[in-house]
Amino acid sequence: MPKHLEAAPWLAVHDRLLAALGAQHWWPGETPFEVMVGAVLTQNTAWSNVERAIANLKAADALSVAAILRLGDGELAALIRPAGYFNVKTRRLKALCGFLERAGVGGDPVRLARGGRLPALRQRLLEVNGVGEETADSILLYALGLPSFVVDAYTRRIFARLGLIGGAETYAHIRRTFMDRLPPDPALYNEYHALIVALGKDFCRPKPRCASCPLVDLCPRRGLE
Ligand code: SF4
Repeated sequence: MPKHLEAAPWLAVHDRLLAALGAQHWWPGETPFEVMVGAVLTQNTAWSNVERAIANLKAADALSVAAILRLGDGELAALIRPAGYFNVKTRRLKALCGFLERAGVGGDPVRLARGGRLPALRQRLLEVNGVGEETADSILLYALGLPSFVVDAYTRRIFARLGLIGGAETYAHIRRTFMDRLPPDPALYNEYHALIVALGKDFCRPKPRCASCPLVDLCPRRGLE
């Protein structure tokens, strides 16, 4: 099938969501480094908890690579406590900051984007303790502005119900499915993932609200009927 025809349903879902839900203005972080920290802290917790942890880091003047590396583990854990799993996340934040420092971009983490091709950079991130695929792609896309599609549980659920994926594929397979069909446009990937999250939270929930869903006429509701 020609590529532009394959892309059509995927772009149609994006366009419909954007028209219905509006631009989501992601990621809610003031600097690339704040986005990176948020990507680690948001693992297994709600964003409101991440906001409280980041506010603590800001209040302690500790939202920088150097400051986080200077803090003792106990001090850092106390600051990020609202985000949960604070001992694990302390180790992960320190590992990420150590990586940035060793890469020579501690003072300006966005410079990491200039460090080579996306697949190689993604692989380097995945080698950092606690950085899994979703975190790596969130950092690449939302902190560094690179075209790496983010897949999460909402993506899996929504696109399985839409009949565009099976639902049990690996993260890598679903990411590749999106990236093979969409142009490598960071702005498009940014908005699309944010819209998917909005739909998953408000409509395509475990018990879906199909009657009011903006995709209802596009959706076979696979697995639900
Ligand atoms: S119509 Fe229902 S199943 Fe389909 S995307 Fe919307 S909420 Fe999910």
